[in-house]
Amino acid sequence: MDYSDVQPEARILIIDDSSTSIRLVSHFVRDMGTVHFATSGEMGLKMALDLQPDLILLDMEMPGMDGLDTCRRLKKQRVLENVPVIFITAHSGVDYEVAGFAAGAVDFIGKPLTEMIVRARVRTHLTLKRQGDLLREQAMRDGLTGIHNRRAFDERFLLECRRHRRNPESLGLALIDIDNFKAYNDLYGHQAGDACLREVAQVIDANVRRPGEFAARYGGEEFAVILPHCAGDEVQRFGAFLVSQIRVLALPHEASAAGVVTISVGVIAGKPVAEDAEQQFLSSADAALYRAKAAGRNCVRLAGRE
Ligand SMILES: [Mg+2]
Repeated sequence: MDYSDVQPEARILIIDDSSTSIRLVSHFVRDMGTVHFATSGEMGLKMALDLQPDLILLDMEMPGMDGLDTCRRLKKQRVLENVPVIFITAHSGVDYEVAGFAAGAVDFIGKPLTEMIVRARVRTHLTLKRQGDLLREQAMRDGLTGIHNRRAFDERFLLECRRHRRNPESLGLALIDIDNFKAYNDLYGHQAGDACLREVAQVIDANVRRPGEFAARYGGEEFAVILPHCAGDEVQRFGAFLVSQIRVLALPHEASAAGVVTISVGVIAGKPVAEDAEQQFLSSADAALYRAKAAGRNCVRLAGRE
């Protein structure tokens, strides 16, 4: 695997109240990524949230919000919890190191700064960060189809429900199931079944292109798509389009009435205002999917509309 494609350029954030120090450290790491800097803890925290850096070099001694406090606040942000923080400090001693690690730092660099040491520490932690990012990304992917897995879906769906609850807007959800898939496996074998899953996943993924839209393999032969800011009509159109896209794939399926692989889709849209909206959405979409199956498969049904 070519790792450079995954994270072409590391983002390094230096937080230090001394411009001399910033200049020196920037110079040391100049070719290891794009270097950004902030001259106070408050500014650093704000920049880190915008920038999502791969590494933070943090001065321990700053007026106002000091390094320890800044580090604690950085680590409280969920989106920054995996970002390594290295303290730069003129202090030495066990107490400082203990406090630093307790605040969430991964390493220390003592002053006076030496180019070789700064570069070695930065390289190590950038490498670890990149490897961690890859593992986290892989843990969210379905091994067979390459699209997001159930775990990634659960996380994202919870997030979108919360987001749509805060500023009440209609959220769309589609549950997709391959018709007569057991018969397909029985007739053509499991390898062909796997290939079929991959093809269907690809078509679904290719049609999920607008910002925030999210496709996942939900279970065996079931897929789910999250459609932010979508009303019922749009979600139904999306489902109908997918149904037609899979039909024109024309994957032979002798044990199916249509003679080709088809899907059934259950969709729902609405404002997820209830506390248990996630569960309500899923069970409503599932009920709609059941109605699509009962109506002869190869079609879409919208929840709440008989
Ligand atoms: Mg300082």
